[in-house]
Amino acid sequence: MFFHNLLLKVNLKTLKEKLSLSNEDACLSIKDHCGIIGIRTTKRIHDLGFLLYQGMLALQHRGQSSAGITVINKKNMKTISDVGYVKDIFDKNTLAALKGKFGIGHVRYPTAGTDLTVGIQPFVLQTRQLKIAIAFNGTIANFDEVRNFLMDQGFRFSHDTDTEVIGKLIDYALEEENGDMTKACKKLVGYLDGAYSILIATNKGEIIAFRDTLGFKPLCYGKTKEGDFVIASETMGLTIVGAEFEDDVKPGEMVIITEKSIKKKRLVKEEKVAHCMFEWVYFARPDAILDGISAYEARERIGKGLGKLFKEGGYEADIVVPIPDSGRIAGIGFSKETGIEYSEALIRNRYVGRTFIMPRQTAREEAVKLKLNVLSNLVKGKKVVLVDDSIVRGTTSKGIIQMIRDAGATHVYFAVSCPQLINPCFMGTDFPTERELIACGRTDEEIAKIIGLDAVIYNTIPLLVEAIGFDKWPENNHLCLACLNGDYPLKSNPSQLLCERES
Ligand code: SF4
Repeated sequence: MFFHNLLLKVNLKTLKEKLSLSNEDACLSIKDHCGIIGIRTTKRIHDLGFLLYQGMLALQHRGQSSAGITVINKKNMKTISDVGYVKDIFDKNTLAALKGKFGIGHVRYPTAGTDLTVGIQPFVLQTRQLKIAIAFNGTIANFDEVRNFLMDQGFRFSHDTDTEVIGKLIDYALEEENGDMTKACKKLVGYLDGAYSILIATNKGEIIAFRDTLGFKPLCYGKTKEGDFVIASETMGLTIVGAEFEDDVKPGEMVIITEKSIKKKRLVKEEKVAHCMFEWVYFARPDAILDGISAYEARERIGKGLGKLFKEGGYEADIVVPIPDSGRIAGIGFSKETGIEYSEALIRNRYVGRTFIMPRQTAREEAVKLKLNVLSNLVKGKKVVLVDDSIVRGTTSKGIIQMIRDAGATHVYFAVSCPQLINPCFMGTDFPTERELIACGRTDEEIAKIIGLDAVIYNTIPLLVEAIGFDKWPENNHLCLACLNGDYPLKSNPSQLLCERES
């Protein structure tokens, strides 16, 4: 059988042994954490490039290393893409040239690898049946397995990108299914393991969208009053072009968008769902509504839960200071729950990128000093509780804590929305190796000491799950928590994936 269809729990001891022996910088293939948008328009053909551009600006937080647009105009495909921010790649002239009834756009963050020019999307491929452009958000966990399978079928590869594997798998599946795209996608979903939301535009004039069977990555759609159909990673991609949200693409569901119709088809129905909890904790914009749950409201509930833990721990503080912007909403919730004054004593330089998603360790360390400034008069002589979404390596947090102490705080506590991160992610999130995760193998007291705190207050898994799911998922079984508890909801064996990642 091609896959072992089992829910596997990682043998953490084995993984730790492997990590301590391996070279963390060895040959990682490029994996993505990205934003995607697709638009079908019948009346705004000349504005298509501008509409996609607006949608991509709204999704820019999901990836800043490169961006691209592909449009289909009378069976001709045109793509413009480059390294950089959306606003820097496109101008009036390039956007005016992007006309058509169908188009897809992509913003990209490479989770590994350094050559930003490799893997820019949309990825365009002439298959034996038709020409396709792919915009992809996620990571193919069984990348090596699928790539080797395709090589055995005679396919050759130029790069180590997921999109090339997906493109060639579509080529293979289309041939096998005599050009039937629905059957080809069903086949594709059977082969792929991992997290993915995918848009495929074809030169026949259609957009095919689908989401992995567990729904790790978000994807939703809506319509404008002009009848344009829009599909995007987050709801702001819809609203910015005037589309009203209609629904989320369900896990394992496919949406086929042609000039005349929109059809939905369930390719696979799994019992389990595993949305990435980090979408609510950090990734998504606060104004996004993901699978029916507001990111803002979830973050505020998380902050309230942290406030309860803080009180139960018997701690006291004079002010709650969020790390901007990632800790802001949880900080509001924390303040509401505890009654401790909310204070924006850390000011962010808006022109420095988000620390968590910068590609290299050195850049990350330097960025923390450039990124924030402390208002000394607000923290001097005070007991301060900082609030942030997560502590990954601890490098950034340590720098911030030192800044707060240097500004005269008497005590510094840290309340963290995400419980201890102790396992790698194979579903597209750029975690460092387990060895670099500060919480791995350490007690809270040890972590507090290393990063210079009086105490660290981590969220608990039950409180996190309750805060996200709230009244929509009272049974609390809709989230992936693998980086917290090691339960990987994948078909592939995580130990094997780790070996491949480390080899
Ligand atoms: S392991 Fe963590 S970061 Fe990765 S998909 Fe699961 S919840 Fe998200």
